[in-house]
Amino acid sequence: MKRPAQHHFHVSLTSSVRTRLTLWYLAMVAFIMCLFGGSLYVTQTFLNSDAAESRLETQLYQDSQQFAQIYRQALPGRQALTALRLNQSSQEMVLLLRPDGSVLDARGPLTSSEIQQLRVRAEQNSEMIDLTTSQNHSYGWWARDTTYRVLITPVLNQNARVASLLVGLPRPHSISLLEIWLFHGTLALLVAAIGGYWLAGKALRPVKMITRTANEISATDLRRRLHLQSRDEFGELAATFDHMLARLEAAFKRQAQFTADASHELRTPLTIIDLEINRALTQLEQPEAYRHVLEQIQAENEQMTATVNSLLLLARADTGQMTLDLQEVDLSDIALASVERLLPLARQSQVTLATGDLPEVLVRGDPQYLGQMMTNLIENGIKYSSGIGKRVYIELACEQERRGVVRVQDDGPGISNDHLPYLFERFYRVDKARSRRQKGPALSSKPGYGEPGGSGLGLSIVQWIVQAHGGEIRVESKIGAGTLFEVRLPLLNMAEE
Ligand code: ADP
Repeated sequence: MKRPAQHHFHVSLTSSVRTRLTLWYLAMVAFIMCLFGGSLYVTQTFLNSDAAESRLETQLYQDSQQFAQIYRQALPGRQALTALRLNQSSQEMVLLLRPDGSVLDARGPLTSSEIQQLRVRAEQNSEMIDLTTSQNHSYGWWARDTTYRVLITPVLNQNARVASLLVGLPRPHSISLLEIWLFHGTLALLVAAIGGYWLAGKALRPVKMITRTANEISATDLRRRLHLQSRDEFGELAATFDHMLARLEAAFKRQAQFTADASHELRTPLTIIDLEINRALTQLEQPEAYRHVLEQIQAENEQMTATVNSLLLLARADTGQMTLDLQEVDLSDIALASVERLLPLARQSQVTLATGDLPEVLVRGDPQYLGQMMTNLIENGIKYSSGIGKRVYIELACEQERRGVVRVQDDGPGISNDHLPYLFERFYRVDKARSRRQKGPALSSKPGYGEPGGSGLGLSIVQWIVQAHGGEIRVESKIGAGTLFEVRLPLLNMAEE
C-alpha cells in the first residue's frame, strides 16, 4: 500500500495564533501595568496629604495673624470693613464676628447656613475646627463635599476681645488606599475579563467552525471539507483534517468499489449456472449434453470457490487474522514445484516454461503461501503470453547475501505504464472487457484455463504474501516486449537477526 503523501503546512511566525496571543497578552499586561502605575502615582500623591495638611495649617496661622492685624487697626476707626483689602486666596473664607455673634465681615465662599454654623462653633471657642460644606469642588470625576479647616483667632484690643476672626481653607481630599486599590483593581480585572473573553472567542472561532463542520459530516457524505484559509495553527489543523477526510473518503470509495466488484464477480458465474440449468431443463435431450452442462456448472462452481477463497484470504489478511506457518524454506524447491504443477497448462497454452539459475535460496516463510505466490506469477505469465514461441522464464538469485530474488519474466504482450500503478489493486484488470470468459456460456467448452484473465485478485494476494514475509515486489513491463515480476525476500540469516 502506498503511504499517502504527508501534507506540509508552514505556519509563519507572524501568522501564528501563538504569536498573536502573545502580542495580545503583552498589550493587556502593559495596559494593566499602566493602570496600576497610575494608581500607585495617585496613591503616592494622596499619601503626601499629611504634608499638605500641615502646610495648610501654617498658611492658616499666617493668614489669620495678618488679617487679625488688619482688622485690629480698622475696628476702632469704625471704617467700612468691607472696603479693606485682605489679599486672601480665592478658596479662602474669612468671617469676622462680634463677641455677641453678629457678623462684622464675611468673605470668600460662604453661604448663610455656613455662617450660621460657624457662629455656633465659634462660641464654643475651640481654636481649630473642620467645617464640611456642601459645595462641590470636582477633583477628577468623583465629586464630594469639601471640608474646610477653620482657625478661630480672637481679635484683641488692649487685651479685650473685640471680635473673633475665622479663616478657613479647604482641606486636601483624602482617599483611603483601600478605596484606590479596590477601584483600580476592579477596573483592571474588568478589562482583563472582557479582553480575555474577547481574545478567547476570537482565537477559538476556527475551532467552533471545525466542530460545526465535523458535526455535519456523516459517514455517507465525506465530501465536505473545511477549507480554512488561515495560515496559522488552526489552518494547519483544518488542512490535516481535510486530508484525513480525503483519505477516509478514498477508503470508503475503495470499500464500496470492492463490494461492488466482489458482487459482480460472483454474480457472473451464478448467472451462467442459471442459464445452463435452464438450457438443460428446456432444450436438452441427449445424456451427453447433460453431462456437458454439469461440467460447465462444476467449472463455474470451482471458479466461484476460488474467488471466494481469495476474498476470504484477503479479508483475513486485512483484519490481521492470517497466521503464517513460518519455517526454513528453499525457494528453489518452491520454484521447481510450481513449474512442475504448471507444465500441463504451459503445454496447453503452447508456452515454454524455462528455468534459469535456481540456486539454493533459504528464506523463513510459509511454504504454502510462497508456493501460491510463485504459482500465481508463473500462471499469469502463461495466461497472458499464450502462443507458440512464447516463453516464461523463472530464475532465482541472492542479492548481497541479504535478499533472495525471484524473477518471473515473460515475453507476452506487456502492460502499459498507465496500468502499472494499479496492478496490485483488488479486482484490477488491465483489459476490463476481457473477463474470465469471453465466450458465451453456451459455447464455452472446457473448464479451466481456456481463456486468459481471472478475478483480478491474484496479484493482490501475491503482494500480501510478499509483504507478510517482509519482502517487496516490483513489476517492469513494456508493451510488446513482455513483463518482469521481481520479488525480494529477506534471506533466512537476515530474518533471524
Ligand atoms: P487475474 O486474475 O485477472 O490474472 P491478477 O491480479 O493476477 O488478476 O492480475 C491483474 C491484471 O494484471 C490482469 O488482469 C492482467 O491484465 C495483468 N497482468 C498480470 N500479469 C500479467 C502478465 N504477466 N502479462 C500481462 N499482463 C498481466
